Amino acid sequence: MLRRERAPKAIILPNNERPTMKAIRIHQSGDPSVMKLEDVPDPTPAAGQVLIIVHAIGVNPVDTYIRGGIYGQRDLPYTPGFDAAGVVEAAGTGVKHFKAGDRVYIAGSVSGAYAQKALCLEHQAHPLPKHISLAQGAALGVPYATAYRAMFISGKAKPAETVLVHGASGGVGTAAVQLARAAGLVVFGTAGTEQGRKLVAEQGAHHVLDHHDPDYLKRLMDLTGGAGVDLILEMLANVNLGKDLTILAKFGRVVVIGSRGPVEIDARNTMGRDADIRGMTLMNADEKELRSIHAALIAGLENRTLNPIIGKEMPLAEAPRAHEEVMKSGAYGKIVLVP
Ligand code: NAP
Repeated sequence: MLRRERAPKAIILPNNERPTMKAIRIHQSGDPSVMKLEDVPDPTPAAGQVLIIVHAIGVNPVDTYIRGGIYGQRDLPYTPGFDAAGVVEAAGTGVKHFKAGDRVYIAGSVSGAYAQKALCLEHQAHPLPKHISLAQGAALGVPYATAYRAMFISGKAKPAETVLVHGASGGVGTAAVQLARAAGLVVFGTAGTEQGRKLVAEQGAHHVLDHHDPDYLKRLMDLTGGAGVDLILEMLANVNLGKDLTILAKFGRVVVIGSRGPVEIDARNTMGRDADIRGMTLMNADEKELRSIHAALIAGLENRTLNPIIGKEMPLAEAPRAHEEVMKSGAYGKIVLVP
């Protein structure tokens, strides 16, 4: 006979007995030392939320701008970070696509990614193909979605076009080279170190240049037979935008992904080319667009044309050092924190 079970009474523990986890907390904006590893209460998923046990966290330059208080004001204190990968611990009511035990990557988080556990909305979680490691999963959210949106949505890249990934050795750049190569573009990529250039070539760039070589843009023009490139994905517009406009093909587009200061351009260089300069921030992508971007990325992971590169893994407690490293030159794929 079926017996109606009484719902168990919720046991509410006093604050000092609640289970805790480690998380990086920021109580005031400032240099990397403002990030402290602290004990905080374990999060629980509300309706529509997914709780994951975090195995790896992606460190993005934007995390440093927010920490420093120069971009995207946050209520203090907070746990930083958008990108992570791990295993679902629990799903809140109404969650349809995830259950405990699923391997996922998250692109965005409600509670912050720099922690042992993280809450996200259901649409911020994505299934991670089996052959992709959890560290690689942490490299997907901001870098791959940015590269995809810049190349195909803002930049309107088409097969057989030429693309210059200006800064191809880091998180966004390696993703862009892989995406462009898989889509049938002719790919030029730059890096500032020997090791970085080797990495860019391994990701599929047809031509690799050194952005510190005084003659590299002349070489690029020679390699395109004097025509210039159809599309430039620009990681450091404050240094390069003026020069970019001189190496664009007719009807060419520059998509500004990164810029760390003002820059002077000669607007005359846009005229004869009918050139476009397009700013782009991933933050402007809505839920529908993000769903479409991540569907494309997962397809690329599944067919093995996309394969995130992890340059360094560091313990979560070393988040301050990771923030210093991600702002240094000599990029090599992605820096990942391990809780
Ligand atoms: P990252 O991993 O630190 O990589 C930085 C890249 O910039 C490296 O390839 C680096 O090459 C390159 N670089 C350095 N000096 C350069 C120069 N003079 N010319 C061309 N490239 C140069 O950073 P990331 O995650 O790839 O992000 C790249 C930029 O995009 C950052 O500024 C970031 O803030 C921005 N971003 C914007 C969005 C958005 O939504 N708009 C999203 C993500 C990232 P070497 O180290 O080999 O010299």
